[in-house]
Amino acid sequence: MFQKILIANRGEIALRVLRAAKELGIKTVAVHSTADAEAMHVRLADESVCIGPPAARDSYLNIHQIVAACEVTGADAIHPGYGFLSENAKFAEILAAHNITFIGPSAEHIRLMGDKIEAKRTVRKLGIPVVPGSEGAVREEDEARKIAAEIGYPVLIKASAGGGGRGMKVARSQAELAQALSTARSEAGAAFGDDAVYIEKYLEKPRHIEVQVVGDGAGNAVHLGERDCSLQRRHQKLWEEANSPALNADERMRIGGIVAKAIADMGYSGAGTVEFLYENGEFYFIEMNTRLQVEHPVTEAITGIDLVHEQIRVASGGGLSVKQEDVRFFGHAIECRINAEDPRTFIPSPGTITHFHTPGGLGVRVDSGVYSGYRIPPYYDSLIGKLIVHGRNRVECMMRLRRALDEFVVDGIKSTLPLFQELVGNVDVANGDYDIHWLENYLADHQ
Ligand code: ADP
Repeated sequence: MFQKILIANRGEIALRVLRAAKELGIKTVAVHSTADAEAMHVRLADESVCIGPPAARDSYLNIHQIVAACEVTGADAIHPGYGFLSENAKFAEILAAHNITFIGPSAEHIRLMGDKIEAKRTVRKLGIPVVPGSEGAVREEDEARKIAAEIGYPVLIKASAGGGGRGMKVARSQAELAQALSTARSEAGAAFGDDAVYIEKYLEKPRHIEVQVVGDGAGNAVHLGERDCSLQRRHQKLWEEANSPALNADERMRIGGIVAKAIADMGYSGAGTVEFLYENGEFYFIEMNTRLQVEHPVTEAITGIDLVHEQIRVASGGGLSVKQEDVRFFGHAIECRINAEDPRTFIPSPGTITHFHTPGGLGVRVDSGVYSGYRIPPYYDSLIGKLIVHGRNRVECMMRLRRALDEFVVDGIKSTLPLFQELVGNVDVANGDYDIHWLENYLADHQ
């Protein structure tokens, strides 16, 4: 087991990783920018190192400084959290060259899944269902026209290097195809320095359902069920739940089994998420994330398995703590992302949180790095906390969520709390009756 882990992140996820390390008796090193000197993860870590000025590229993305911090403190492993360097294959390689363990999959798997065309090709060979579309990159308009005619309109042009929903364009007819192709290519080129695009059937009313997996890198893997993350705004998830209200136990075990087998066959190591769109009873792979996700606590709530413990165990060579037949799903969990944003315009609202009070009680978990008097720096994302609520069934979970949201106090800045207070009382949300467009439509209708 590791003696000391450096956490190359900030905010709630740095704290989350720190808690897991402490439980395992591992010492922790926090790194921080000058803007985060007062942050909770810095206060609670055994040691801390300032790695640079506020801008992320000079601190949390500064590989040189992070490796130096690791060497100075004698940490033997790095947990990257999510975002920042968590899906950077080069970072994983540099750490290997310095004999520091990267708590995550191999550089090769990170790179493979970061290229969406290659990812899709790989998982299809491993038996995972994918969205119908082009075999690989599409360059010429003629070729695009032929593929679109085969799969049928509407089609979606997507960037191979894509992320955050950028470089995606819908074409509803042949007349729109040429324009969609050239816009997607130039957006992808500008955003990612890679203008390779591919074509997929555009699904009209899917849900976003993702399967959590953990592999040991030696041909074993388990799935921990799915999460439904359909409630999104501009491809940003706001509310996530497990299980999905749309799946029954047979469907869960069927898709989970397919995914776990594929991951095992790949020799994948660590935690990962395989994302699907789900429509008319069918799953369609869209991408795989090779890291811990923001919404991982809903899976922890219904399985009782600590995903960061599993990540650390696997990275240290200790294998998985569970076999598939030991994984049990109990009850229902929902996570709300509390962002420092206006609940209608979603404009960021940095500033000082004058009063911060978190709810408690049975089945309530709050993962947050902020406190009363905390000043939110304007340099990073706007997530200030996650409220995760668990109940024996979805009805109980929703009742508890409504109660917990009422207890939650965030004063001094705007937050997304009022939006969740509205959603928890909405009949479609209560019935689990929503697709990936539901929230955007709701927001447009309730200005
Ligand atoms: P990114 O990496 O940019 O987030 P994804 O492939 O994960 O890209 O897709 C992001 C979102 O775009 C999905 O959650 C979904 O809302 C939408 N999307 C992607 N592919 C399709 C598709 N074939 N049909 C309809 N919507 C899609």
